[in-house]
Amino acid sequence: MSDKQNLGTNTLAIRAGQLRTHEGENSEPIFATSSFVFKNAEEAAARFSGDAPGNIYSRFTNPTVRTFEQRLAAMEGGERCIATSSGMSAILTTCLGLLKAGDHLVSSRSIFGTTVGLFDNVLPKFGIETTFVDLIDYDEWEKAITPATRLLFLETPSNPLTEIADIRRLAEIAHKHDCLLVVDNCLCTPILQKPIEYGADIVIHSATKYLDGQGRCVGGAIIGSDDLLKEDVFGFLRTAGPTMSPFNAWVFLKGLETLNVRMKAHGENALLLAQWLDDHEKVEKVYYPGLQSHPQHELAKTQQNGFGGLVSFEVQGGQKEAWHIIDSTELFSITANLGDTKSTITHPATTTHHRLTDEQREEAGIKQEMIRLSVGLEDTDDLIRDLERGLARI
Ligand SMILES: *Cc1c(COP(=O)(O)O)cnc(C)c1O
Repeated sequence: MSDKQNLGTNTLAIRAGQLRTHEGENSEPIFATSSFVFKNAEEAAARFSGDAPGNIYSRFTNPTVRTFEQRLAAMEGGERCIATSSGMSAILTTCLGLLKAGDHLVSSRSIFGTTVGLFDNVLPKFGIETTFVDLIDYDEWEKAITPATRLLFLETPSNPLTEIADIRRLAEIAHKHDCLLVVDNCLCTPILQKPIEYGADIVIHSATKYLDGQGRCVGGAIIGSDDLLKEDVFGFLRTAGPTMSPFNAWVFLKGLETLNVRMKAHGENALLLAQWLDDHEKVEKVYYPGLQSHPQHELAKTQQNGFGGLVSFEVQGGQKEAWHIIDSTELFSITANLGDTKSTITHPATTTHHRLTDEQREEAGIKQEMIRLSVGLEDTDDLIRDLERGLARI
């Protein structure tokens, strides 16, 4: 495609990155090959020295993976995308590619639990330290920055509390101090939010979630400028090898083709459930950016193209009542995964946030009476009946 600049996100989601082979296939093929052959020894030498572009080995590049990368980069408005074997390896590759011993990062406290573990337990072994701050306390972000800080890291909306951070404001703070702003855009996807447009330098994805959208494959991606990614970050991937498989890339690039309609439907269903829960006498509080009562509803409206599929709520009572509601469901899948066509239900305090001490959990606002839903694409009447079964009896 010659002029990607003028194409809309939905066209890019379906067309970007496709390079038809001589077979004239309409749907993109899966290049299930570990290596590539050369016409002769001279061509092999030119590829290995970097003098000639082209594939060498699928740990480095693969045509199906490249199609996924170009498609997602175009959708996020980034120059380059590097696909990885998981969302976690996307974060690891970004950090080890760009940072060195002695560097410091500042991160929102309200991020994916395993990312906290990576920053807290793994990176310090390599001399990289992290300071955690409150996602929406902008003074705290700025105060945490030291001369060694290289990178600011966040997710917005947060999970499970759905707090929304002003990406523009954090990009200004980052750039004022010569730091990079990295946004994990897993919950919104480029359909609902394009952090690069607001000044983010790097966008991270767990493709496992909405990009696949049907709970099949694990994968991740890093999107940013050519300058930032092409040497150190791609160099780390090439050498360390957290590469995406061609089969998974194919599943994800097919997922991108329907991402727009799915994200809209997830959002519509989630809003209906959030409103119903908000009116329910046994429900104390609902967390959903689409509700007018949400503290950052106005920011969500300007920064996002929709409110997403994640809804959390607190029931009257505590852990016993929350577990009762979860165990009374017949449709909801009891799993911590999200971004699936299948709605999922989880108890954050005893699953995703079980490692926190009671105090830390209190500080993070994760109460025993809280339930998190990832609202899927089933009929909302059925989902409501499924939740009402437990709610009616507490
Ligand atoms: C799931 C998730 C990750 C990790 O992705 P994996 O594909 O499971 O490695 C990172 N960030 C967020 C926000 C996630 O939800």
